[in-house]
Amino acid sequence: MAAYPDTQLYINGHWRDGSDESLTIVNPASDEVIGRVSNASKGDLDEALSAATAGFEHWRQVSAFERAKLMHDAAKILRDRSQAIARVMTLEQGKPLAESKAETAGAADTIDWFAEEARRAYGRLIPPRATHIRQMVVKEPVGPVAAFSPWNFPLNQAVRKVSAALAAGCSIILKGPEETPASCAELVRAFADAGLPAGVLNLVFGVPADISNYLIPHPVIRKISFTGSSVVGKQLASLAGAHMKRVTMELGGHAPALVFDDADIDLAVRLLAGAKFRNAGQVCVAPTRFLIQESVYERFLDGLVKAAEAINVGDGLSDGVTMGPLANARRVEAMEALTADAVMRGAKIATGGKRIGNLGNFFQPTVLTNAPQDARVLSEEPFGPLAIVSAFSDYASAVAEANRLPYGLAAYAYTTSAKTSAGLARDIESGMLSINHHGLALPELPFGGIKDSGYGSEGGTEAMESYFNTKLVTEAVG
Ligand code: NAD
Repeated sequence: MAAYPDTQLYINGHWRDGSDESLTIVNPASDEVIGRVSNASKGDLDEALSAATAGFEHWRQVSAFERAKLMHDAAKILRDRSQAIARVMTLEQGKPLAESKAETAGAADTIDWFAEEARRAYGRLIPPRATHIRQMVVKEPVGPVAAFSPWNFPLNQAVRKVSAALAAGCSIILKGPEETPASCAELVRAFADAGLPAGVLNLVFGVPADISNYLIPHPVIRKISFTGSSVVGKQLASLAGAHMKRVTMELGGHAPALVFDDADIDLAVRLLAGAKFRNAGQVCVAPTRFLIQESVYERFLDGLVKAAEAINVGDGLSDGVTMGPLANARRVEAMEALTADAVMRGAKIATGGKRIGNLGNFFQPTVLTNAPQDARVLSEEPFGPLAIVSAFSDYASAVAEANRLPYGLAAYAYTTSAKTSAGLARDIESGMLSINHHGLALPELPFGGIKDSGYGSEGGTEAMESYFNTKLVTEAVG
Protein backbone atom coordinates (compact mmCIF):
# COMPACT_ATOMS: atom_id res chain seq x y z
CA MET A 1 0.00 0.00 0.00
CA ALA A 2 1.33 3.48 -0.86
CA ALA A 3 1.95 5.80 2.10
CA TYR A 4 -1.41 7.29 1.28
CA PRO A 5 -3.21 5.67 -1.67
CA ASP A 6 -5.66 7.45 -3.96
CA THR A 7 -9.13 5.94 -3.63
CA GLN A 8 -11.18 4.58 -6.51
CA LEU A 9 -14.76 3.42 -6.76
CA TYR A 10 -15.45 -0.30 -6.49
CA ILE A 11 -18.31 -1.28 -8.77
CA ASN A 12 -19.26 -4.76 -9.99
CA GLY A 13 -16.00 -6.26 -8.81
CA HIS A 14 -13.72 -3.62 -10.39
CA TRP A 15 -11.69 -0.80 -8.89
CA ARG A 16 -11.95 2.19 -11.19
CA ASP A 17 -12.06 5.96 -11.38
CA GLY A 18 -15.38 7.77 -11.28
CA SER A 19 -16.68 9.77 -14.22
CA ASP A 20 -16.87 13.00 -12.22
CA GLU A 21 -13.82 15.02 -11.18
CA SER A 22 -12.01 13.57 -8.16
CA LEU A 23 -11.71 15.39 -4.82
CA THR A 24 -8.56 16.12 -2.83
CA ILE A 25 -7.81 14.61 0.58
CA VAL A 26 -6.12 16.76 3.21
CA ASN A 27 -4.12 15.57 6.22
CA PRO A 28 -5.86 17.29 9.17
CA ALA A 29 -2.58 17.42 11.11
CA SER A 30 -0.65 19.37 8.46
CA ASP A 31 -3.17 20.80 5.95
CA GLU A 32 -1.17 19.04 3.22
CA VAL A 33 -2.96 17.52 0.24
CA ILE A 34 -2.12 13.82 0.46
CA GLY A 35 -4.30 12.19 -2.19
CA ARG A 36 -7.51 12.07 -4.15
CA VAL A 37 -10.82 10.24 -4.08
CA SER A 38 -12.89 9.36 -7.15
CA ASN A 39 -16.32 10.85 -7.54
CA ALA A 40 -19.29 8.88 -8.87
CA SER A 41 -21.53 10.32 -11.59
CA LYS A 42 -25.15 9.28 -12.09
CA GLY A 43 -23.93 6.82 -14.72
CA ASP A 44 -21.57 5.26 -12.16
CA LEU A 45 -24.46 4.96 -9.71
CA ASP A 46 -26.58 3.25 -12.38
CA GLU A 47 -23.80 0.71 -12.85
CA ALA A 48 -23.61 0.17 -9.10
CA LEU A 49 -27.39 -0.35 -8.99
CA SER A 50 -27.27 -2.94 -11.79
CA ALA A 51 -24.36 -4.66 -10.07
CA ALA A 52 -26.19 -4.70 -6.74
CA THR A 53 -29.27 -6.23 -8.42
CA ALA A 54 -27.26 -9.08 -9.96
CA GLY A 55 -25.12 -9.36 -6.82
CA PHE A 56 -28.21 -9.80 -4.66
CA GLU A 57 -29.68 -12.51 -6.90
CA HIS A 58 -26.44 -14.43 -6.55
CA TRP A 59 -25.56 -13.76 -2.89
CA ARG A 60 -29.00 -14.62 -1.51
CA GLN A 61 -28.53 -18.16 -2.92
CA VAL A 62 -25.16 -18.63 -1.22
CA SER A 63 -25.60 -20.65 1.96
CA ALA A 64 -25.14 -18.91 5.31
CA PHE A 65 -22.30 -21.34 5.98
CA GLU A 66 -20.42 -20.21 2.85
CA ARG A 67 -21.17 -16.54 3.49
CA ALA A 68 -19.77 -16.89 6.98
CA LYS A 69 -16.59 -18.57 5.71
CA LEU A 70 -15.94 -15.77 3.26
CA MET A 71 -16.58 -13.13 5.89
CA HIS A 72 -14.12 -14.78 8.28
CA ASP A 73 -11.54 -14.72 5.45
CA ALA A 74 -12.15 -10.97 4.98
CA ALA A 75 -11.72 -10.40 8.73
CA LYS A 76 -8.39 -12.22 8.64
CA ILE A 77 -7.20 -10.12 5.68
CA LEU A 78 -8.16 -6.96 7.57
CA ARG A 79 -6.18 -8.11 10.62
CA ASP A 80 -3.16 -9.03 8.50
CA ARG A 81 -3.17 -5.54 6.97
CA SER A 82 -4.06 -3.66 10.13
CA GLN A 83 -0.73 -1.86 10.61
CA ALA A 84 -0.81 -0.34 7.13
CA ILE A 85 -4.54 0.46 7.28
CA ALA A 86 -4.18 2.17 10.66
CA ARG A 87 -1.48 4.45 9.28
CA VAL A 88 -3.69 5.43 6.36
CA MET A 89 -6.57 6.14 8.75
CA THR A 90 -4.46 8.42 10.91
CA LEU A 91 -3.13 10.27 7.87
CA GLU A 92 -6.63 11.10 6.61
CA GLN A 93 -8.64 11.33 9.85
CA GLY A 94 -6.11 12.49 12.44
CA LYS A 95 -6.75 10.11 15.35
CA PRO A 96 -3.72 8.69 17.19
CA LEU A 97 -2.25 5.58 15.61
CA ALA A 98 -3.20 3.43 18.62
CA GLU A 99 -6.86 4.40 18.13
CA SER A 100 -6.65 3.60 14.41
CA LYS A 101 -5.17 0.19 15.21
CA ALA A 102 -7.91 -0.50 17.75
CA GLU A 103 -10.53 0.52 15.21
CA THR A 104 -9.11 -1.83 12.57
CA ALA A 105 -8.98 -4.74 15.04
CA GLY A 106 -12.53 -3.90 16.13
CA ALA A 107 -13.73 -3.92 12.52
CA ALA A 108 -12.33 -7.43 12.04
CA ASP A 109 -14.10 -8.57 15.23
CA THR A 110 -17.34 -7.10 13.93
CA ILE A 111 -17.09 -9.03 10.66
CA ASP A 112 -16.41 -12.24 12.61
CA TRP A 113 -19.39 -11.73 14.88
CA PHE A 114 -21.84 -11.03 12.04
CA ALA A 115 -20.40 -13.98 10.10
CA GLU A 116 -21.39 -16.28 12.96
CA GLU A 117 -24.74 -14.58 13.29
CA ALA A 118 -25.46 -15.36 9.62
CA ARG A 119 -25.58 -19.02 10.64
CA ARG A 120 -28.14 -18.35 13.36
CA ALA A 121 -30.75 -16.53 11.29
CA TYR A 122 -33.44 -18.91 12.49
CA GLY A 123 -37.08 -18.78 11.47
CA ARG A 124 -39.73 -20.57 13.56
CA LEU A 125 -42.64 -22.96 13.40
CA ILE A 126 -45.83 -21.78 15.07
CA PRO A 127 -48.18 -24.41 16.57
CA PRO A 128 -51.25 -24.56 14.30
CA ARG A 129 -54.94 -24.64 15.27
CA ALA A 130 -55.48 -27.74 13.11
CA THR A 131 -53.11 -30.68 12.82
CA HIS A 132 -52.84 -30.60 9.00
CA ILE A 133 -51.63 -26.99 8.94
CA ARG A 134 -47.95 -26.06 8.97
CA GLN A 135 -47.14 -22.42 9.82
CA MET A 136 -43.59 -21.42 9.05
CA VAL A 137 -41.86 -18.07 9.60
CA VAL A 138 -38.78 -17.53 7.44
CA LYS A 139 -36.22 -14.73 7.36
CA GLU A 140 -35.33 -13.46 3.91
CA PRO A 141 -32.73 -10.83 3.04
CA VAL A 142 -34.45 -7.50 2.48
CA GLY A 143 -32.63 -6.79 -0.80
CA PRO A 144 -30.00 -4.35 -2.09
CA VAL A 145 -29.00 -1.82 0.58
CA ALA A 146 -27.83 1.80 0.26
CA ALA A 147 -25.58 2.71 3.19
CA PHE A 148 -24.05 6.07 4.10
CA SER A 149 -21.14 6.12 6.54
CA PRO A 150 -19.30 9.13 8.02
CA TRP A 151 -15.72 10.27 8.58
CA ASN A 152 -15.31 9.95 12.36
CA PHE A 153 -14.79 6.16 12.32
CA PRO A 154 -14.02 5.46 8.66
CA LEU A 155 -13.92 1.69 9.20
CA ASN A 156 -16.20 1.04 12.13
CA GLN A 157 -19.22 3.00 10.94
CA ALA A 158 -19.04 1.23 7.58
CA VAL A 159 -18.25 -2.28 8.82
CA ARG A 160 -21.43 -2.59 10.88
CA LYS A 161 -23.59 -1.87 7.85
CA VAL A 162 -21.57 -3.99 5.44
CA SER A 163 -21.25 -6.98 7.79
CA ALA A 164 -24.91 -7.10 8.79
CA ALA A 165 -26.04 -6.74 5.16
CA LEU A 166 -23.68 -9.43 3.84
CA ALA A 167 -24.45 -11.80 6.70
CA ALA A 168 -28.17 -11.50 5.98
CA GLY A 169 -27.65 -12.19 2.26
CA CYS A 170 -28.15 -8.63 1.00
CA SER A 171 -26.03 -6.80 -1.56
CA ILE A 172 -24.96 -3.28 -0.68
CA ILE A 173 -23.89 0.02 -2.19
CA LEU A 174 -21.81 1.85 0.38
CA LYS A 175 -21.29 5.60 0.06
CA GLY A 176 -18.12 6.04 2.01
CA PRO A 177 -16.84 9.22 3.68
CA GLU A 178 -15.31 11.59 1.11
CA GLU A 179 -12.89 13.13 3.65
CA THR A 180 -11.55 9.78 4.91
CA PRO A 181 -12.03 7.41 1.99
CA ALA A 182 -8.87 5.30 1.85
CA SER A 183 -9.23 3.34 5.10
CA CYS A 184 -12.90 2.72 4.33
CA ALA A 185 -11.85 1.42 0.90
CA GLU A 186 -9.49 -1.03 2.64
CA LEU A 187 -12.51 -2.60 4.31
CA VAL A 188 -14.06 -3.16 0.89
CA ARG A 189 -10.72 -4.44 -0.46
CA ALA A 190 -10.57 -7.06 2.30
CA PHE A 191 -13.92 -8.48 1.14
CA ALA A 192 -12.94 -8.22 -2.52
CA ASP A 193 -9.65 -10.02 -1.88
CA ALA A 194 -11.44 -12.68 0.16
CA GLY A 195 -13.36 -13.55 -3.02
CA LEU A 196 -16.72 -11.81 -2.54
CA PRO A 197 -18.60 -12.20 -5.85
CA ALA A 198 -18.84 -9.13 -8.11
CA GLY A 199 -21.71 -6.75 -7.39
CA VAL A 200 -22.39 -7.90 -3.83
CA LEU A 201 -20.48 -4.99 -2.29
CA ASN A 202 -20.02 -1.72 -4.18
CA LEU A 203 -18.27 1.43 -2.97
CA VAL A 204 -19.00 4.94 -4.22
CA PHE A 205 -18.09 8.47 -3.22
CA GLY A 206 -19.40 11.83 -4.42
CA VAL A 207 -21.67 14.70 -3.45
CA PRO A 208 -23.58 13.15 -0.50
CA ALA A 209 -26.95 14.78 -1.25
CA ASP A 210 -26.77 13.89 -4.95
CA ILE A 211 -26.06 10.26 -4.14
CA SER A 212 -28.71 9.89 -1.44
CA ASN A 213 -31.33 11.69 -3.55
CA TYR A 214 -30.68 9.23 -6.35
CA LEU A 215 -30.24 5.97 -4.46
CA ILE A 216 -32.89 6.22 -1.74
CA PRO A 217 -35.93 6.53 -4.04
CA HIS A 218 -34.50 4.09 -6.61
CA PRO A 219 -36.69 0.97 -6.92
CA VAL A 220 -33.67 -1.37 -6.74
CA ILE A 221 -32.82 -0.19 -3.20
CA ARG A 222 -34.85 -1.84 -0.44
CA LYS A 223 -33.15 -0.63 2.72
CA ILE A 224 -31.31 2.51 3.87
CA SER A 225 -28.76 2.79 6.65
CA PHE A 226 -27.32 6.18 7.58
CA THR A 227 -24.91 7.37 10.26
CA GLY A 228 -24.52 11.13 10.66
CA SER A 229 -26.26 14.19 12.04
CA SER A 230 -29.90 14.26 13.16
CA VAL A 231 -30.66 17.06 10.69
CA VAL A 232 -29.52 15.06 7.68
CA GLY A 233 -30.96 11.84 9.13
CA LYS A 234 -34.43 13.38 9.28
CA GLN A 235 -34.18 14.45 5.62
CA LEU A 236 -33.09 10.99 4.51
CA ALA A 237 -35.66 9.22 6.71
CA SER A 238 -38.47 11.30 5.22
CA LEU A 239 -37.25 10.56 1.70
CA ALA A 240 -37.09 6.87 2.57
CA GLY A 241 -40.56 7.08 4.13
CA ALA A 242 -41.99 8.60 0.98
CA HIS A 243 -40.77 5.52 -0.89
CA MET A 244 -41.59 3.04 1.90
CA LYS A 245 -37.99 1.92 2.38
CA ARG A 246 -36.73 0.18 5.49
CA VAL A 247 -34.44 2.48 7.48
CA THR A 248 -31.77 2.37 10.18
CA MET A 249 -30.75 5.82 11.47
CA GLU A 250 -27.76 6.20 13.78
CA LEU A 251 -27.71 9.93 14.48
CA GLY A 252 -26.30 12.53 16.82
CA GLY A 253 -26.23 12.52 20.60
CA HIS A 254 -25.45 14.78 23.55
CA ALA A 255 -24.71 12.17 26.18
CA PRO A 256 -25.23 13.01 29.85
CA ALA A 257 -22.73 11.57 32.35
CA LEU A 258 -24.18 11.52 35.88
CA VAL A 259 -21.78 11.20 38.81
CA PHE A 260 -23.43 10.67 42.20
CA ASP A 261 -21.76 11.43 45.52
CA ASP A 262 -21.48 7.73 46.41
CA ALA A 263 -19.51 6.96 43.23
CA ASP A 264 -15.88 5.94 42.89
CA ILE A 265 -14.84 9.43 41.77
CA ASP A 266 -11.34 8.48 40.58
CA LEU A 267 -12.81 5.76 38.39
CA ALA A 268 -15.43 8.17 37.04
CA VAL A 269 -12.79 10.79 36.18
CA ARG A 270 -10.49 8.29 34.48
CA LEU A 271 -13.14 6.55 32.37
CA LEU A 272 -15.16 9.64 31.49
CA ALA A 273 -12.08 11.67 30.53
CA GLY A 274 -10.94 8.80 28.31
CA ALA A 275 -14.36 8.55 26.67
CA LYS A 276 -14.65 12.33 26.26
CA PHE A 277 -11.37 12.99 24.46
CA ARG A 278 -11.06 9.75 22.45
CA ASN A 279 -11.06 10.60 18.73
CA ALA A 280 -10.95 14.27 19.84
CA GLY A 281 -14.55 13.98 21.00
CA GLN A 282 -15.85 13.28 17.49
CA VAL A 283 -17.90 10.35 18.70
CA CYS A 284 -21.69 10.17 18.65
CA VAL A 285 -21.71 8.49 22.10
CA ALA A 286 -19.08 10.78 23.68
CA PRO A 287 -20.09 12.06 27.14
CA THR A 288 -20.71 15.79 26.84
CA ARG A 289 -22.97 17.01 29.67
CA PHE A 290 -21.15 16.09 32.88
CA LEU A 291 -23.71 16.28 35.70
CA ILE A 292 -21.99 16.02 39.06
CA GLN A 293 -23.62 15.87 42.50
CA GLU A 294 -22.81 19.02 44.47
CA SER A 295 -20.73 17.48 47.27
CA VAL A 296 -18.28 15.84 44.82
CA TYR A 297 -18.40 18.56 42.14
CA GLU A 298 -15.07 20.26 42.99
CA ARG A 299 -13.23 16.96 43.33
CA PHE A 300 -14.55 15.65 40.01
CA LEU A 301 -13.88 18.94 38.19
CA ASP A 302 -10.35 19.11 39.52
CA GLY A 303 -9.71 15.54 38.32
CA LEU A 304 -11.23 16.14 34.89
CA VAL A 305 -9.22 19.34 34.37
CA LYS A 306 -6.00 17.53 35.32
CA ALA A 307 -6.87 14.67 32.95
CA ALA A 308 -7.59 17.14 30.12
CA GLU A 309 -4.32 18.98 30.73
CA ALA A 310 -2.36 15.70 30.71
CA ILE A 311 -3.49 14.95 27.15
CA ASN A 312 -0.70 15.18 24.62
CA VAL A 313 -2.22 16.82 21.51
CA GLY A 314 -0.34 16.41 18.25
CA ASP A 315 0.07 14.55 14.98
CA GLY A 316 -1.51 11.14 15.47
CA LEU A 317 1.51 9.45 13.90
CA SER A 318 3.91 10.84 16.54
CA ASP A 319 4.87 8.74 19.56
CA GLY A 320 3.12 9.62 22.80
CA VAL A 321 0.32 11.64 21.20
CA THR A 322 -3.01 10.89 22.88
CA MET A 323 -5.29 13.27 20.94
CA GLY A 324 -4.95 14.20 17.29
CA PRO A 325 -6.36 17.12 15.32
CA LEU A 326 -10.06 17.45 14.56
CA ALA A 327 -10.86 15.74 11.29
CA ASN A 328 -11.83 18.89 9.40
CA ALA A 329 -11.75 22.67 9.73
CA ARG A 330 -15.53 22.81 10.24
CA ARG A 331 -15.14 21.19 13.66
CA VAL A 332 -12.54 23.78 14.79
CA GLU A 333 -14.89 26.57 13.77
CA ALA A 334 -17.70 24.83 15.67
CA MET A 335 -15.55 24.48 18.84
CA GLU A 336 -14.61 28.18 18.68
CA ALA A 337 -18.20 29.27 18.10
CA LEU A 338 -19.68 27.07 20.86
CA THR A 339 -17.02 28.15 23.36
CA ALA A 340 -17.40 31.86 22.53
CA ASP A 341 -21.18 31.65 22.82
CA ALA A 342 -20.99 29.89 26.20
CA VAL A 343 -18.46 32.40 27.58
CA MET A 344 -20.52 35.32 26.31
CA ARG A 345 -23.47 33.91 28.31
CA GLY A 346 -21.44 33.55 31.51
CA ALA A 347 -19.67 30.19 31.26
CA LYS A 348 -16.10 29.83 32.58
CA ILE A 349 -13.26 28.02 30.87
CA ALA A 350 -11.70 25.67 33.43
CA THR A 351 -9.08 24.61 30.89
CA GLY A 352 -8.48 24.82 27.13
CA GLY A 353 -10.88 26.77 24.94
CA LYS A 354 -8.50 27.65 22.12
CA ARG A 355 -7.26 26.47 18.80
CA ILE A 356 -3.63 25.30 18.86
CA GLY A 357 -1.38 26.86 16.20
CA ASN A 358 -2.35 27.76 12.65
CA LEU A 359 -1.46 24.53 10.90
CA GLY A 360 -3.82 21.57 11.05
CA ASN A 361 -7.08 21.41 13.00
CA PHE A 362 -5.77 21.22 16.56
CA PHE A 363 -7.97 22.32 19.46
CA GLN A 364 -7.27 22.17 23.18
CA PRO A 365 -9.07 19.60 25.33
CA THR A 366 -11.60 21.92 26.92
CA VAL A 367 -13.63 21.93 30.12
CA LEU A 368 -16.39 24.52 30.59
CA THR A 369 -18.26 25.24 33.82
CA ASN A 370 -21.14 27.53 34.85
CA ALA A 371 -22.72 27.30 31.39
CA PRO A 372 -26.30 28.59 31.56
CA GLN A 373 -28.96 26.42 30.01
CA ASP A 374 -29.39 28.76 27.04
CA ALA A 375 -25.75 28.30 26.01
CA ARG A 376 -25.78 26.63 22.60
CA VAL A 377 -23.30 24.01 23.75
CA LEU A 378 -25.86 22.63 26.20
CA SER A 379 -28.28 21.89 23.37
CA GLU A 380 -26.17 21.39 20.24
CA GLU A 381 -24.01 18.30 19.90
CA PRO A 382 -20.41 19.58 20.28
CA PHE A 383 -18.83 16.64 18.39
CA GLY A 384 -15.41 17.74 19.57
CA PRO A 385 -13.22 17.96 22.70
CA LEU A 386 -15.63 20.05 24.84
CA ALA A 387 -16.81 18.83 28.27
CA ILE A 388 -19.47 20.91 30.01
CA VAL A 389 -19.55 20.31 33.77
CA SER A 390 -22.57 21.27 35.90
CA ALA A 391 -23.64 20.50 39.47
CA PHE A 392 -26.91 18.87 40.52
CA SER A 393 -28.53 18.58 43.94
CA ASP A 394 -30.69 15.45 43.79
CA TYR A 395 -31.65 12.45 41.69
CA ALA A 396 -34.79 14.03 40.21
CA SER A 397 -33.04 17.18 38.94
CA ALA A 398 -30.17 15.12 37.47
CA VAL A 399 -32.57 12.88 35.55
CA ALA A 400 -34.61 15.89 34.39
CA GLU A 401 -31.48 17.53 32.96
CA ALA A 402 -30.28 14.24 31.41
CA ASN A 403 -33.62 13.83 29.61
CA ARG A 404 -34.07 17.53 28.70
CA LEU A 405 -32.81 17.34 25.11
CA PRO A 406 -34.44 15.77 22.07
CA TYR A 407 -31.36 13.51 21.78
CA GLY A 408 -31.40 10.03 23.30
CA LEU A 409 -28.36 8.05 22.20
CA ALA A 410 -25.96 7.21 25.05
CA ALA A 411 -25.89 8.02 28.77
CA TYR A 412 -23.38 7.25 31.53
CA ALA A 413 -23.69 7.04 35.28
CA TYR A 414 -21.41 6.45 38.24
CA THR A 415 -22.91 5.36 41.55
CA THR A 416 -22.44 2.55 44.08
CA SER A 417 -26.11 2.62 45.03
CA ALA A 418 -28.12 -0.28 43.62
CA LYS A 419 -31.28 1.78 44.09
CA THR A 420 -29.87 4.65 42.02
CA SER A 421 -28.67 2.29 39.27
CA ALA A 422 -32.05 0.61 39.06
CA GLY A 423 -33.78 3.99 38.97
CA LEU A 424 -31.55 5.23 36.15
CA ALA A 425 -32.10 2.06 34.12
CA ARG A 426 -35.81 2.85 34.37
CA ASP A 427 -35.78 6.65 34.04
CA ILE A 428 -33.06 7.66 31.57
CA GLU A 429 -34.35 8.28 28.05
CA SER A 430 -31.59 6.85 25.88
CA GLY A 431 -30.88 3.90 23.65
CA MET A 432 -27.82 2.94 25.73
CA LEU A 433 -26.86 3.41 29.37
CA SER A 434 -23.43 2.43 30.70
CA ILE A 435 -23.09 2.35 34.51
CA ASN A 436 -19.74 2.30 36.36
CA HIS A 437 -17.81 1.36 33.23
CA HIS A 438 -17.56 2.26 29.55
CA GLY A 439 -19.16 -0.67 27.81
CA LEU A 440 -20.71 0.43 24.51
CA ALA A 441 -20.19 -0.45 20.85
CA LEU A 442 -19.23 -4.13 20.98
CA PRO A 443 -20.59 -5.99 17.93
CA GLU A 444 -22.77 -8.29 20.04
CA LEU A 445 -24.52 -5.37 21.81
CA PRO A 446 -27.40 -3.29 20.42
CA PHE A 447 -26.14 0.12 19.34
CA GLY A 448 -28.67 2.84 18.59
CA GLY A 449 -30.70 5.72 19.87
CA ILE A 450 -34.21 6.93 20.53
CA LYS A 451 -35.89 10.33 20.01
CA ASP A 452 -33.88 12.53 17.59
CA SER A 453 -30.91 10.16 17.84
CA GLY A 454 -32.62 7.83 15.40
CA TYR A 455 -34.04 4.34 15.34
CA GLY A 456 -32.90 0.83 14.66
CA SER A 457 -29.70 -0.76 15.83
CA GLU A 458 -26.21 -1.17 14.42
CA GLY A 459 -25.21 -4.01 16.72
CA GLY A 460 -26.47 -7.22 18.22
CA THR A 461 -29.17 -9.49 16.85
CA GLU A 462 -31.31 -6.37 16.38
CA ALA A 463 -28.91 -5.17 13.67
CA MET A 464 -29.27 -8.41 11.71
CA GLU A 465 -33.02 -8.31 12.08
CA SER A 466 -33.21 -5.00 10.22
CA TYR A 467 -31.73 -6.61 7.09
CA PHE A 468 -34.42 -9.33 6.98
CA ASN A 469 -37.97 -9.48 5.79
CA THR A 470 -40.19 -11.75 7.83
CA LYS A 471 -42.25 -14.07 5.64
CA LEU A 472 -45.09 -16.27 6.85
CA VAL A 473 -45.75 -19.44 4.88
CA THR A 474 -48.85 -21.28 6.02
CA GLU A 475 -49.67 -24.55 4.30
CA ALA A 476 -52.26 -27.31 4.51
CA VAL A 477 -50.10 -30.40 4.42
CA GLY A 478 -52.56 -33.24 4.55
P1 NAD B 1 -23.00 16.97 7.96
O1 NAD B 1 -24.28 16.95 8.72
O2 NAD B 1 -22.95 17.74 6.68
O3 NAD B 1 -22.57 15.48 7.56
C1 NAD B 1 -22.60 14.40 8.46
C2 NAD B 1 -22.47 13.12 7.63
O4 NAD B 1 -23.61 13.00 6.80
C3 NAD B 1 -21.29 13.12 6.68
O5 NAD B 1 -20.76 11.82 6.63
C4 NAD B 1 -21.88 13.52 5.33
O6 NAD B 1 -21.18 12.94 4.25
C5 NAD B 1 -23.26 12.93 5.42
N1 NAD B 1 -24.26 13.67 4.68
C6 NAD B 1 -24.52 15.00 4.76
N2 NAD B 1 -25.55 15.33 3.95
C7 NAD B 1 -25.94 14.18 3.36
C8 NAD B 1 -26.98 13.84 2.44
N3 NAD B 1 -27.84 14.77 1.97
N4 NAD B 1 -27.08 12.57 2.03
C9 NAD B 1 -26.26 11.61 2.51
N5 NAD B 1 -25.28 11.84 3.38
C10 NAD B 1 -25.13 13.12 3.82
O7 NAD B 1 -21.91 17.51 8.92
P2 NAD B 1 -20.36 17.25 9.13
O8 NAD B 1 -19.72 18.58 9.26
O9 NAD B 1 -19.75 16.30 8.17
O10 NAD B 1 -20.43 16.55 10.53
C11 NAD B 1 -20.88 17.33 11.62
C12 NAD B 1 -22.04 16.75 12.32
O11 NAD B 1 -22.46 15.48 11.83
C13 NAD B 1 -21.63 16.51 13.76
O12 NAD B 1 -21.94 17.63 14.53
C14 NAD B 1 -22.42 15.31 14.17
O13 NAD B 1 -23.66 15.73 14.71
C15 NAD B 1 -22.75 14.60 12.89
N6 NAD B 1 -22.00 13.35 12.73
C16 NAD B 1 -22.42 12.29 13.45
C17 NAD B 1 -21.77 11.09 13.34
C18 NAD B 1 -22.21 9.90 14.13
O14 NAD B 1 -21.40 9.05 14.42
N7 NAD B 1 -23.51 9.80 14.47
C19 NAD B 1 -20.66 10.99 12.50
C20 NAD B 1 -20.25 12.11 11.76
C21 NAD B 1 -20.95 13.29 11.88
